Amino acid sequence: MATRCAIYARQSLDRSGEGAAVERQIADCRRLAEARGWAVEHVLTDNDLSASTGKPRPQYERLLNLMLAGQVEAVVVWHVDRLTRRLVDLEQIITACESVGIRLATVTGDLDLGTDTGRMLARILASVARGEVERKGTRQRAANRQRAEAGRMGWTRRPFGYDVDDDGKIVVVEAEAEGLRAAAGMVLGCDVDDEGRIVPGSERPVTERASLAAAARMLNDTKGLPTTGRRVLRDDDGNPRRDDDGRTMHGPFLPWNTTTMRRTLLNPRYGGRVTYNGLEMDADGTWPAILDGHTQSRLVEVLRDVKRRQQSGTEAKYLLSGLARCGRCGAVMFATNALMTAGGRRTHYGVYRCRACYLTRRRDLVDEVVEGVLLARMARPDAAGLLAPAADLDALRAEAIELRDRRDTLAGLLADGLLSRESVTEQAGKLTRRLGEVEGRITAALGDSPAAALVGADDPAAVWVDMDVRARKLAVDTLMTVTIEPVHRGARFSPKQVRIGWKGAAAGS
Ligand SMILES: [Zn+2]
Repeated sequence: MATRCAIYARQSLDRSGEGAAVERQIADCRRLAEARGWAVEHVLTDNDLSASTGKPRPQYERLLNLMLAGQVEAVVVWHVDRLTRRLVDLEQIITACESVGIRLATVTGDLDLGTDTGRMLARILASVARGEVERKGTRQRAANRQRAEAGRMGWTRRPFGYDVDDDGKIVVVEAEAEGLRAAAGMVLGCDVDDEGRIVPGSERPVTERASLAAAARMLNDTKGLPTTGRRVLRDDDGNPRRDDDGRTMHGPFLPWNTTTMRRTLLNPRYGGRVTYNGLEMDADGTWPAILDGHTQSRLVEVLRDVKRRQQSGTEAKYLLSGLARCGRCGAVMFATNALMTAGGRRTHYGVYRCRACYLTRRRDLVDEVVEGVLLARMARPDAAGLLAPAADLDALRAEAIELRDRRDTLAGLLADGLLSRESVTEQAGKLTRRLGEVEGRITAALGDSPAAALVGADDPAAVWVDMDVRARKLAVDTLMTVTIEPVHRGARFSPKQVRIGWKGAAAGS
């Protein structure tokens, strides 16, 4: 027999006819009960009454009686603060739950009042709730979900790829959807079919992936499909200009740039997922997806690749800039120009320099050593051992999702006032670092690093010649560490001043 449960919902303040909010609480609770396979036998609502004042709450009293009489085995509430804001009330509930073994489930997280931990957590939640006047963030999230369920995406301007038809239904703008799939394909280096799926076997080497800038140019110039964003036209005083009918006037649609391209390709909306404040909600949208879920997770992996973001500015132009380490102080070295004495003459050279202790070494000489050592090592039959051992991709992906979820949950705990900003920042930092590691291992496991192409090549030198600096840097970073050793003043350059370490499994050989 299904567990008999009661839903309890309460509206604390009704300043703005928020009666619907109770409906929302009940809808969320019903969904939870259904997920548990519980039979909802009672839906109890106290409206317009505050739980903090101790005013009578008839339905609450009835709930307690039902619990004590053993007529319900579980209670579902939206949040503990809907049930009670007074600790004395909570103790009543806890006593009731303990004595008759009732389960308490909340939409915002489960509380097992049969355990010490569950009771402690309930008391913490209730005491936090007591000081809280509004639960704005969570309420807005619920509102957002309700809107999504009503089939609306909740936009202030039409998102690229979608529009609303005469019946208010969200429809795909085919030309734009096709442009978006083409952009995704360029950035991923593969073919994406009409349903937004990666065509199996079409993935090309990492070096053939297009930049976000190239994808933006394709949409702007080749396809003539700008973004849906426009600037508001303003007068000299900065006020919006209006046409004869009083409508705000806009400039032309803005072209794509790398920022808008990136944000759009990463938006879960295109996979049919609901977002709120940039966070993915645990809800499916009611609109048609343009990209499939796997394509989106690949986009996340590729576009969130830390190395890709670091490859900007001058750092990207020189092989070891941002990679080589100073052998004196351990800092990372960067490319720059310096006046150096060579053969009694002062000459400008391109150099790598430590910004901390100013250790400086000629770039061309260092690069030559590193390239020579790398290609010689690649030519050895055991070179494959330098790549990290293939990891379990599914497990890594699951861990990445779990870590992102936990990080997102932190934001909710902060919004709900359950954690301080400091502890959220600290925890989020830890999770982000761990996520970076996991994403790095995913990249390595996918063989995405150009190092994979080098290691597998018959003629590594020929592959190296064809690589651009970005790919070369990725290869070096995947395979080796480079340290520039300090020398006494005036010493001539020697390859021994470049210390090379190997990162992979065969590093010892
Ligand atoms: Zn240094």
